[in-house]
Amino acid sequence: MTTILYLPIRLVLGVLTWSFAEYALHNWYGHLAKGRNRFSREHLKHHTNGQYFAPTWEKAIAASIALAIATPVTLWIAGPLIGLSYATAFAATYLAYEWFHRRCHTHAPKTRYGAWLRKHTCTITTLAPKRITA
Ligand SMILES: [Zn+2]
Ligand SMILES: [Zn+2]
Repeated sequence: MTTILYLPIRLVLGVLTWSFAEYALHNWYGHLAKGRNRFSREHLKHHTNGQYFAPTWEKAIAASIALAIATPVTLWIAGPLIGLSYATAFAATYLAYEWFHRRCHTHAPKTRYGAWLRKHTCTITTLAPKRITA
């Protein structure tokens, strides 16, 4: 019973951990590396050209490798239920981030909130018009 009660905490931890991992990956491995690794080169290319995205298959392989390493470690540390719910939240947040990020570049916002969100999250070149269309 106690395990079930802590489920929301594990999910929130997965979301927060992904958010930190995204920041670390983006800033430290992407920007500070200044093109000295493949991820950095792909990321800086995206900043130069907002229409460019690293191939989805490359992201899928990288995410699969990361999960293949992290999930057993998490299961070993926290047990099957806690470890799996945490890893699932981490992976789901990554997928949601990827979807939102791409959509932010390819679709115009439909609401004022969407315009505000785009302004504060997609500051580089985008494919879609910047005005609210609906
Ligand atoms: Zn960046
Ligand atoms: Zn972007």
